[in-house]
Amino acid sequence: MVPSIRLYNTFTRAKEELSPLREGIVRIYSCGPTVYRYVHVGNLRTFMLPDLLRRSLEYLGYQTEQVMNITDVGHLTDDTFDRGEDKMLVSARLENKSPAEIAAYYTEAFMDDAARLNLRRADHYPRATDYIPQMIDLIEKLIARGHAYAVGGAVYYDIGSFPAYGKLSRNTTDKLLAGARGDVDPQKHRPGDFTLWKAAGEHRMQVWPSPWGPGFPGWHIECSAMSMSLLGDRFDIHTGGADNVFPHHEAEIAQSEGVSGHRVVTCWMHGGLLMLGGARMAKSAGNFFRISELEEHGFDPLAFRYLALQAKYRTKLSFSTQGLAGADRALRQLRERVMEWSDAIRPPEDAKVGDYEARFRAALADDLDLPAAMALVAELNRSDVAEGARASLLRSWDRVLGLDLDRGAPEVTLPAGASALLEARERARATKDFATSDRLRDELVDLGVAVTDTPHGQRWRSAPTKPS
Ligand SMILES: [Zn+2]
Repeated sequence: MVPSIRLYNTFTRAKEELSPLREGIVRIYSCGPTVYRYVHVGNLRTFMLPDLLRRSLEYLGYQTEQVMNITDVGHLTDDTFDRGEDKMLVSARLENKSPAEIAAYYTEAFMDDAARLNLRRADHYPRATDYIPQMIDLIEKLIARGHAYAVGGAVYYDIGSFPAYGKLSRNTTDKLLAGARGDVDPQKHRPGDFTLWKAAGEHRMQVWPSPWGPGFPGWHIECSAMSMSLLGDRFDIHTGGADNVFPHHEAEIAQSEGVSGHRVVTCWMHGGLLMLGGARMAKSAGNFFRISELEEHGFDPLAFRYLALQAKYRTKLSFSTQGLAGADRALRQLRERVMEWSDAIRPPEDAKVGDYEARFRAALADDLDLPAAMALVAELNRSDVAEGARASLLRSWDRVLGLDLDRGAPEVTLPAGASALLEARERARATKDFATSDRLRDELVDLGVAVTDTPHGQRWRSAPTKPS
């Protein structure tokens, strides 16, 4: 029996009960990276939302299917006002490579960084440049339905044709546009109309033929095309960062619903921003860290995951190296405890274990309340639940937490003969025969077993054998 799950929907500003369109499976579209530079940990926090969402839903008994797009064209340097240069072309010029080379390089870098944070891979990673015909098709339909107009080789969305425009972001449009400085594209009927197709102009790279002349798609139409091509015109959840609400997702709703004539996404979920020194972590602001930089400073990359789990996914999170250092220590301690407790004998069923499990599930089902789940981890650690039961609960919860709590645990099988040597060494230590104990330790190393002595007795792990 799958429990009732409530998720916060940005569109209605309320927690709503999840009711998947297809029984037993939740279908999710996540806005993915624009692959013109490395992602920083602020970006990775955004991508942690769909990871935690899927892990939680699966823990609670659902299947999931996730699409995450790769934006490799059309994302301009000024999204809010639909101006500036294509980010891919800027990087291609700076690095003296082709846009395809830039995209391939940074896509791989993104996958590596995501893996360091234990972000599960999506089921599909469509690339925008593979969906140009679908985008052109959508744009033609929008023109036919009176939602878009072509002028001078470009196509714009007429926001006046879609009365619900501004509903997701609560009509921040006027406020934002009132503050617009500089040139507004004179071809637009009104300043808030957004670009669906841009004329190539001087560009020679990343240009495609279209009914309106050579050009390239706007960023927003890409996600309408890829989401509906892969998930159809009704799916359960759309995720992104809080900075995607306007204009990106507002525009996506206007496009997808303008074509389909009905609601496409049931629930819009947005991850809170990562702040550094009071400002949003951003490449443009120069205040950012890559996950690999944190690793170079000696932090476990999963310490960042531990840190992020302490805050509700929707809230802003302040990043500091002190905070990260605390998370790093706490994570290592937790792993050591799981390792110690793993050796303990599991007692007969303990009613408290079922209670902890129910509370963990309830936290997940309440809009992915991971801070509550982490508080439960701390409470369990202080509890009188038998150690073996604690270890097995934490291992199970780690399917959601993704902290590799098992990393310090010993191998299950010992090489032949090692077990007898360990027992002999335990006896030698008990009689304080340290010469024998040391000799046995060396013999164990020869078998590939490293032994350490702890207050709880000897611990072992597999270790490289000495070169012969
Ligand atoms: Zn998107």
